[in-house]
Amino acid sequence: KGERLRLPPWLKTEIPIGKNFNRLKNTLRDLNLHTVCEEARCPNIGECWGGGEYATATATIMLMGDTCTRGCRFCSIKTARRPPPLDPDEPYNTAKAIAAWGLDYVVLTSVDRDDIADGGAEHFAKTVSNLKERNSQILVECLTPDFRGDLTSVEKIALSGLDVYAHNVETVRELQRYVRDPRANFDQSLSVLKHAKKVKPTVLTKTSIMLGLGETDQQILNTLTELREADVDCLTLGQYMQPTKRHLKVDEYVTPEKFAHWEKVGNEMGFVYTASGPLVRSSYKAGLEHIHL
Ligand code: SF4
Ligand code: SF4
Repeated sequence: KGERLRLPPWLKTEIPIGKNFNRLKNTLRDLNLHTVCEEARCPNIGECWGGGEYATATATIMLMGDTCTRGCRFCSIKTARRPPPLDPDEPYNTAKAIAAWGLDYVVLTSVDRDDIADGGAEHFAKTVSNLKERNSQILVECLTPDFRGDLTSVEKIALSGLDVYAHNVETVRELQRYVRDPRANFDQSLSVLKHAKKVKPTVLTKTSIMLGLGETDQQILNTLTELREADVDCLTLGQYMQPTKRHLKVDEYVTPEKFAHWEKVGNEMGFVYTASGPLVRSSYKAGLEHIHL
């Protein structure tokens, strides 16, 4: 399996651009927000930012800088042992900018900051509370680090006023060491999700898995079972894409039919919401799940 696989046709299709796209794109320039949508050149930007007739406009904003203290083998974010310090004005300024931007649903995420005592949890939580003070209508999802399993940090964010607590297990239990930074692991991630639910049962918990890294169907099924047992509400499954040659190779391009199969399995297992498809990302059409609730 030394060769790189060819991109299958279902990953080459153009994604439609909805009617809000240009409005959001034009107003972003002055706001000094860093969106993962743009920086990761996410293929779903047209749909997420545009919304459709019924869909909500969603974007993912990155907090705490662009440099991570970890180095997962699937991720192209810059790594350093000591990234620049946090900008103390970021929670205020970011909240203000998001409120002015006109989104219905926002995902706040961050790099891992193992160099900071609370991993940046206070900073994260302040951004949510500032944002909710300015705009109580906007739905907020936080996609957080694992905080090295520090549940006080998880609790701070779970109680910050957010609507959805997301933390990604990224892959099946068996491939954790191969895919993620050695400081991350399946049980630690599961404990983050469980704790968020425990301290705030009305919050929806959510996680995401990449497929195409060499996992077996049985391993996927076991992972889904463990997630459901941990009371995780929402699940997304998407294709792993190799960001550069230095990153993990794609083992398999999983077919759209197979993704549809996992969506059905997820629904049957009782997840409140399962989104599964080659281009599904953890924040893909994130706002939709609320429309269905
Ligand atoms: Fe990338 Fe997150 Fe891993 Fe950091 S912890 S390298 S941001 S996936
Ligand atoms: Fe942005 Fe996430 Fe949508 Fe991609 S899937 S455009 S990162 S909100």
